[in-house]
Amino acid sequence: DGEIEFENVNFTYDGRQAALKGVSFKVPKGGSVALVGESGAGKSTILRLLYRFYDLKEGDGRILVDGQDIRDVKQASLRKAIGVVPQDSVLFNASVAYNIGYGKFGATQEELEEAAKAAQMHDRILTFPEGYETKVGERGIRLSGGEKQRVAIARTLLKNPPILLLDEATSALDTSTERDIQKALQNLVQGRSSLSIAHRLSTIASADLILVLKDGQIVEQGTHKQLLEQN
Ligand code: ADP
Ligand code: ADP
Repeated sequence: DGEIEFENVNFTYDGRQAALKGVSFKVPKGGSVALVGESGAGKSTILRLLYRFYDLKEGDGRILVDGQDIRDVKQASLRKAIGVVPQDSVLFNASVAYNIGYGKFGATQEELEEAAKAAQMHDRILTFPEGYETKVGERGIRLSGGEKQRVAIARTLLKNPPILLLDEATSALDTSTERDIQKALQNLVQGRSSLSIAHRLSTIASADLILVLKDGQIVEQGTHKQLLEQN
């Protein structure tokens, strides 16, 4: 149902220094954990390992989802349970509806509209009546970075996975876009376990647990309030 546990995880990319050293933490079902730390600290590696872009070697710890070592779970079923919202979503050169519906074959118009609404998408970027065949180029639709992010959020809402991996964009968005995306993310995260590479203060402040990474290790952890009191 979405419980995640990293147990003393070590990981090294070929020919590099260790990217993760003895990393242990737990995301309870429905909980939110924010990863923070400088570039190169190991945040993305944590997400990649959970999605099994790489597997841990024997003796380098374990990653468990709902108590099961993820190496013992079929990759397809693991990935079905995990939604990924990347920093910069690449969209297919097709209609917005197609881009939202991709990953859920045969989604109905109602389901698409519901997901789009929860992702705070506005009429301008919705082209449902033309449906799946509409080419963006033909329609002359171009999406901004913020709009593309909402498409990615809507796609994930439709997929409805118990676990979310989020990589927040660092780029500055205007305040109304920022507010829309925050709301969309709230709707997405609600009721799911989430692991975020967090840049937004709102994400960090609302996380159940913040992990501060440095050189592949967790150097501090706690709620936002606890970390503020310590520093
Ligand atoms: P962060 O997401 O916190 O910026 P990463 O997890 O991407 O950090 O990187 C952790 C360490 O692993 C860094 O030293 C980085 O250079 C290295 N690293 C990341 N990705 C790769 C890769 N694909 N191949 C080799 N080394 C990598
Ligand atoms: P930016 O807003 O960052 O300047 P662009 O508009 O240049 O981004 O688009 C970046 C990429 O995303 C391009 O490959 C473009 O074809 C693609 N893209 C943009 N809008 C859509 C869309 N609605 N559907 C599919 N792909 C899109």
